[in-house]
Amino acid sequence: MNSLVVMSVFAAAVVLRLVLRLWLIGRQIRHVARHRDAVPADFAGTVTLEAHRKAADYTIARQRLELLTTAWGSAVLLGWTLLGGLDLLNIAVRDAVLPRGGDLAYQIALVMAVSVIGSLIDLPFDLWRTFRLEQRFGFNRMTFGLWLKDAAVGAVVGAVVGVPLLALVLWLMAAAGPLWWLWAFAALAGFTLLMQVVYPTVIAPMFNKFQPLADEALKGRVEALMQRCGFRAQGLFVMDGSRRSAHANAYFTGFGASKRVVFFDTLLSRLTPGEVEAVLAHELGHFHHRHVPKRILTLMGVWLASLALLGWLMGQAAFYTGLGVQPNMLAPNHALALLLLMLAGPVFGFLLAPLTAASSRRHEFEADAYACRQASGADLRAALLKLFQDNASTLTPDPVYVRFHYSHPPASERLAALAGR
Ligand SMILES: [Zn+2]
Repeated sequence: MNSLVVMSVFAAAVVLRLVLRLWLIGRQIRHVARHRDAVPADFAGTVTLEAHRKAADYTIARQRLELLTTAWGSAVLLGWTLLGGLDLLNIAVRDAVLPRGGDLAYQIALVMAVSVIGSLIDLPFDLWRTFRLEQRFGFNRMTFGLWLKDAAVGAVVGAVVGVPLLALVLWLMAAAGPLWWLWAFAALAGFTLLMQVVYPTVIAPMFNKFQPLADEALKGRVEALMQRCGFRAQGLFVMDGSRRSAHANAYFTGFGASKRVVFFDTLLSRLTPGEVEAVLAHELGHFHHRHVPKRILTLMGVWLASLALLGWLMGQAAFYTGLGVQPNMLAPNHALALLLLMLAGPVFGFLLAPLTAASSRRHEFEADAYACRQASGADLRAALLKLFQDNASTLTPDPVYVRFHYSHPPASERLAALAGR
């Protein structure tokens, strides 16, 4: 491999991805703006012009912010790599930590420094999104104090969970021989499965309160539905989503005996019992079709391929120099290699976005079809319509943007598919 070739391919990919993303965002903004003043015929009786305009304005405002974050993200990526940011940081951390702490401490410090700086760089956008954008459209319920607390707890949990895993992977890279990537993959896969149990039971309760569903009538309905579907959950919980946002949702998490169903309080306050049942039936559809294990398996396939690729790239000097970093002579380069993979990988992974989005949309249709077999299709339609309106989702997205970015089918397609049932 040649350093100049790596540099050119990477720079071209960054520019290509940026142009493609900006083009898609531009399309979405123009398409939504063009349809702002007329409710689509299919929704004429059910959606007011006022709600339709609010959805358009909200979509456009979010896309404008997206325009900024996308351009900024590409600049930051080039700053880390070709403009020498990671190289400078590496030298500073190496000089400061290596003599006193040794190889592992230096590498952990480097990864932590990159993630802390990366979060600080994104902070202003996060603040703007929550306290300006979401606030303006009446969705934000967060105080600044709660936002700060979330950020602090998130950082501590991330360090407590992430540092031991990182240390294990770095140790495997140094000690497990040429097939280290297989061992590292096994460690990551095991960790992911463990998190399926730990996240809902230990981590999520640090951010939200989960209370058992108290409404006996609704509980009876929901339990009857789960019985019909052959689904056994550890519990039905109501989450105080309204503390942070007015957006509503429902989900189930965990696997085996740790499965639990979670309703946002914002969902229960808006939907009738029949509609809640239909939404839950949709979630059970995901369970019935094994969508979550399928997604995790796909993700693991990507990880395995990436780590195997890294096993080869790590030994190529051009991999480092082509991405703007001088490899260490007297210290291991494992952390540098991991960081470069994390920075540069998504640039190429972006090409997979339409594939994963399409598979996700197909899963949504399958779950809707299942919900219609187990509960009322009319209730599901009514619930979705309320959710689309409450979340100010646009009814007129750009079709090309949808193909690329939408993990859920747009309202018109989804309700049309349900209309026949
Ligand atoms: Zn779904």
